[in-house]
Amino acid sequence: MACYLHPERQVYRSELLDTMPWLRHGFGTALAVDWPGDTATLKQTHSDHVHVVATSCCGEQGEGDALVTNVAGTAVSIRTADCVPVLLADPVHHVVAAVHAGWKGTSKAIVQRAVERMTADFGTRPGHLVAAVGPAIGECCYEVSADVGVQFTRYGVEIPKEGKPHLNLAQINRMQLVEAGVAQVDVLDVCTKCEATLCHSFRRDGERSGRMHAVIGIYTEGRN
Ligand SMILES: [Zn+2]
Repeated sequence: MACYLHPERQVYRSELLDTMPWLRHGFGTALAVDWPGDTATLKQTHSDHVHVVATSCCGEQGEGDALVTNVAGTAVSIRTADCVPVLLADPVHHVVAAVHAGWKGTSKAIVQRAVERMTADFGTRPGHLVAAVGPAIGECCYEVSADVGVQFTRYGVEIPKEGKPHLNLAQINRMQLVEAGVAQVDVLDVCTKCEATLCHSFRRDGERSGRMHAVIGIYTEGRN
């Protein structure tokens, strides 16, 4: 399976997540149409805090970098411009999660914290989970300091004697998902800095960069 660009909505989608009729999802691009709609969000702080949305609600729910819900009719979203957006769905219990993972969140393995919370609160088995990793800054463009790079050597990141290390945060998040027991992971191979038409990029555009919205939600009965 793979991720692809939905031509009308200008939203990247995952073929794996497409297989679930109770789910709506997508990684909105800079050109996304009618997106993201009403969603529950967080004030993102590059933490590993996972917030559970327990009632049907929209707007900012507090601080943190991952949202989990099982409430029908509710969608959760996170915003990125180079950081990694990850969407998760449990097809057995109908639980979903949206995760924001920059290098700080990735160094704290926030996707694994989200999987743990789904397991603890909703009985999710990691082996049932389906995940999609959206547009993020690629290894081609993501140069970091040696201090940052050294935190990821266990994922194969090399610290060169000359020059700076490069990180592939999307692949590191995929490895962390697999490590947590998630069997099915779609990864979109798009670099936000290289893809100037469709993607916002903080490294490319700095403070004036926009943000892209990654959304996952549960349809109420009848909308399937
Ligand atoms: Zn690039």
